[in-house]
Amino acid sequence: LAQAHSSANPPPATFSFEFFVPKTSQGVQNLYDRMDRMYDLNPIFIDITWNAGGRSSSLTNEMVYTSQSTLGLETCMHLTCTNMKVELIEEALQKAYQSGCQNILALRGDPPLDGSESTGDFKYAKDLIAYIRKNYGDHFNIGVAAYPEGHPEERSEDNTLHYLKEKCDAGADFIITQMFYDVDNFIKWCAKIRKIGVDIPIIPGIMPISTYAAFVRRAKWSEINIPQHFLDVLDPIKDDDYLVRERGTELVSEMCDKLIKSGFVNHLHFYTMNLERATIMILEKLNIIEPVKSHEVIGGAELPWRKSL
Ligand code: FAD
Repeated sequence: LAQAHSSANPPPATFSFEFFVPKTSQGVQNLYDRMDRMYDLNPIFIDITWNAGGRSSSLTNEMVYTSQSTLGLETCMHLTCTNMKVELIEEALQKAYQSGCQNILALRGDPPLDGSESTGDFKYAKDLIAYIRKNYGDHFNIGVAAYPEGHPEERSEDNTLHYLKEKCDAGADFIITQMFYDVDNFIKWCAKIRKIGVDIPIIPGIMPISTYAAFVRRAKWSEINIPQHFLDVLDPIKDDDYLVRERGTELVSEMCDKLIKSGFVNHLHFYTMNLERATIMILEKLNIIEPVKSHEVIGGAELPWRKSL
């Protein structure tokens, strides 16, 4: 831990953006426009989510193709294996490969909502990782999800750490975490995973604060801790969306600053919720990008999956 804190002047942080697949074709077009604009901010990569169960598989593949080949953005495709037969997984990987995509976030996905068993060929994300490595060698950089605040289905922290190590041993190249606001907990968690031999890059998942209601709701869904100082600042102004966004930006920027100074991370991954303004405000505040003159805000909706972010 002491060693991690010693990097007083880390190089400038890099960043990336997550987008989810919209439900309508108009939504898809709006998102392409937004992705094109956000390209100018110079993210290292962008990623496109996958709807567990494969419902939106062709749309994710299509968007990965457009983003990687047409817009020229380095793209990471999420791929889940819940309810996915190996043939469907192979088809998705082939399409990603043909698009020129070289990055996969390999996930299990949340279990079927009706409580039934998954009908997929792989039980855990580690099985999907092993499959990709076996069949595609080093073509894909493989990312995995991680849970500094725990996973809702597993109460034991030791088990959760152990399963993360298994995913790394299966061939993962980088980690993206669930959203969180408790930086002290995150820093302790980083030290723990380094201690058990997880040595790949850790990318923290950053969820900007746009409205008080969404902030509290998402934290509750994800079962993550909200530090008291966030509530102290935001509670008294919760009905003023403008102020919540301003103060929320300050809080999240302070958090990002502390993360970078911890020495464990040098890259911030933003859950954009298909919106740009709140993310841009944080990057401006951190002086990672030049001030952007006009902020355009179109649409935006809830993440299509259940509770893990
Ligand atoms: P796993 O690592 O396989 O873990 C699943 C569960 O099984 C956990 O409870 C774990 O503790 C347990 N487990 C793991 N290995 C073992 C083992 N060997 N023995 C016993 N138990 C084990 N969902 C989507 O549907 N689409 C997305 O695009 C998407 N993107 C995400 C991006 C990020 C950065 C994150 C953090 C989550 C994302 N999710 C997404 C949600 C994710 O699919 C869920 O959190 C899911 O419940 C777990 O996925 P996983 O890949 O972490 O699974």
